[in-house]
Amino acid sequence: MEKGVAQKSRYHHVEEMPEHFKEMFILQGYRNPNSTFRECMLSMCHPTNETMNFWTHILPAIYFIWSTFVIFRDNLDLTHDAFALPFFVYSLSTCLYPAASALAHVLNTMSPHARHICFFVDYAALSFYSLGSAVAYKAYSFPLSQENAPFRKLYVPFASLIAVISMSMCCATRFMPSGILKKVFRMLTMAVPYMFVIIPIVQRYYLGNAEDLSGGMYLHLRQFLFALLSAFLYLSHIPERLSPGCFDILFHSHQIFHVTSILGTSDQMAAFFLDLQERRHLLARPGHDGLMPSHRSTIGLMTLVGTVNILQLMMFSSQLYRILPQHSQTTAAEKHSNLETSDQVINGRCTKGNSGISDVTHRVTYRGGKVASQAGNN
Ligand SMILES: [Zn+2]
Repeated sequence: MEKGVAQKSRYHHVEEMPEHFKEMFILQGYRNPNSTFRECMLSMCHPTNETMNFWTHILPAIYFIWSTFVIFRDNLDLTHDAFALPFFVYSLSTCLYPAASALAHVLNTMSPHARHICFFVDYAALSFYSLGSAVAYKAYSFPLSQENAPFRKLYVPFASLIAVISMSMCCATRFMPSGILKKVFRMLTMAVPYMFVIIPIVQRYYLGNAEDLSGGMYLHLRQFLFALLSAFLYLSHIPERLSPGCFDILFHSHQIFHVTSILGTSDQMAAFFLDLQERRHLLARPGHDGLMPSHRSTIGLMTLVGTVNILQLMMFSSQLYRILPQHSQTTAAEKHSNLETSDQVINGRCTKGNSGISDVTHRVTYRGGKVASQAGNN
């Protein structure tokens, strides 16, 4: 292997990484922040701190694709059964979000721009998933006493609005100064859509009759516990917080967060399927045709919101190229000279195009023979 390739493929210590590539309490196993596509893909067969983040989402994505195929092959008729449409769009969203997350985790070290864009894609897929869930909750899981309530009629339009707003706010958090406030704010932008879409389950638990408590109710509640556990892991950074350096490659909180999220989604999918099977005679009884799902309220709506998500993604990406200085793509691992040649660096701080956004500040220092670059962390 050529020397240059060997140099690029070695793993880095946190001190060698640009600030916004650093993960809290993770010390080792960082990949080169200017990796090529091939290097990124190959790194998923090596012990980096992103490897298990990739596998804990790509394997579930494949599992959800297979499950969706089997369910529709054996149990549901998409062409003649309108009641199958919400399950179809929901299933698509459950396949998409872990796949997008896996790709974000594998490709985010191609450049600083790529890192942001990868996670914009991740947030767009989560936004899409939250709406897919809402479409399924409305179709299968509302308490029977609420089936004609105004809230049920407004539920999906509100969920669409919240999904779009949360996508924008989640992307905006990538431009916030680093720290716990940023972490909490990002968590809230993900939590609010979730807390809204599960309102029917809360209603069903407290207002429901015996029929409401059957079907997939047990699985809905267990999914809620997995969601709570996921939020705890995301915010707490346990176990790596307790012993920094011991969980760099295996069993750090983000990997466990992926697993608990997927277990929750798996329960949610099973719960919707049970609700669909066991409650359809109640939800699709004569006289309730106006409540039946349609192509427009399922595939049409998801296409519309998915398109808006893509436009948001493009908008934030173009904003990124406007404000993130090109020289910030140089890395601690690779840049050894010409530090002072750029007129963008004044007193060690980048100023060109800086709109007061912390991620674009870029300090360059020399420590023990190594160049360290700080760009405001994520
Ligand atoms: Zn992740």
